[in-house]
Amino acid sequence: MEETGGNRIPAIGIPRALLYYRYGTLWEHFFRALDVPVILSPLSSRGILDIGARLAPDEGCISLKMFIGHVEALIGKCERIFIPRYSNYGYTDLFCTRYEGIYDQARNIFHTSGQRFITCNIDVMNGSPEPKAFEQLGVELGFSERESRQAWKEAAGALEQEQRANDRLQKELAGKPGMKVLLAGHSYVLSDPYLGKPIRDYLEAAGAVILRTDALDPITSRKASARFSPTCRWLVSEEVVGGVMLWKEKVDGIILVSAFPCGPDSMTNELLIRRIKGVPVLPLILDIQSGMAGIETRIESFLDIIRFQKGEMV
Ligand code: SF4
Repeated sequence: MEETGGNRIPAIGIPRALLYYRYGTLWEHFFRALDVPVILSPLSSRGILDIGARLAPDEGCISLKMFIGHVEALIGKCERIFIPRYSNYGYTDLFCTRYEGIYDQARNIFHTSGQRFITCNIDVMNGSPEPKAFEQLGVELGFSERESRQAWKEAAGALEQEQRANDRLQKELAGKPGMKVLLAGHSYVLSDPYLGKPIRDYLEAAGAVILRTDALDPITSRKASARFSPTCRWLVSEEVVGGVMLWKEKVDGIILVSAFPCGPDSMTNELLIRRIKGVPVLPLILDIQSGMAGIETRIESFLDIIRFQKGEMV
């Protein structure tokens, strides 16, 4: 087990999966501002997914299975594993219920390992907004309310800066010449080195400029989503839908990337496929068995359709 080497608290482990790809900057800054060392699980791989698939409930989505594989990779390597529960930012901004259940699920799956876990509850509907949840987390780790609040402010500022930089980069990319393809999906699918990276690599090798819904300013995306479908209440899905609405006229094609079986995506993707006109849309569902070969063929044909529509192919 990794010790602190003079720090007040032993190392906290963070699984590099699921909401890490959305909030990792915030979490890491929070702990580092308190001088708490952080260990990340290794980058995703087939091996990590296989372990997760063996341990997680069969009905779980690939993202959940990958997450459980990452938790397993941290067992015995840190004093506590941090798994926050993200429930909601209010009545109209809900998170997928899997994010809410993963802390208890992981504790249950690894209950014989002796591993300790730590969480914080983001649940605005029950009086626990993010600043309060992180303040409580800091206090639980032995810091004062003031120290914890300060750490939260620094961490929230770092995340905001990152989001602004990502949004700026998307706008710069949109101005580049060449075929533009929008990848629409959850960050933990698009950014995952095993799940999303082969898709990005393939598109890049084919000369496409890649835009991403998860890199846009989330508030702007959610407003755009509300204009399209005011009843969608899953926060991350709202951002995917909003991102598509914002970019659909500026790109040559849209790829909807999902992890099988995803409840929120199955609804919003269906909606997008039916309602988006004038731009080719390719739904790609990644499952445990999917190898890149089948996916490459589908992306290749999709890019040919785009080239044909742009008059680059006859
Ligand atoms: S949103 Fe979909 S992919 Fe993400 S955790 Fe929930 S079910 Fe899985």
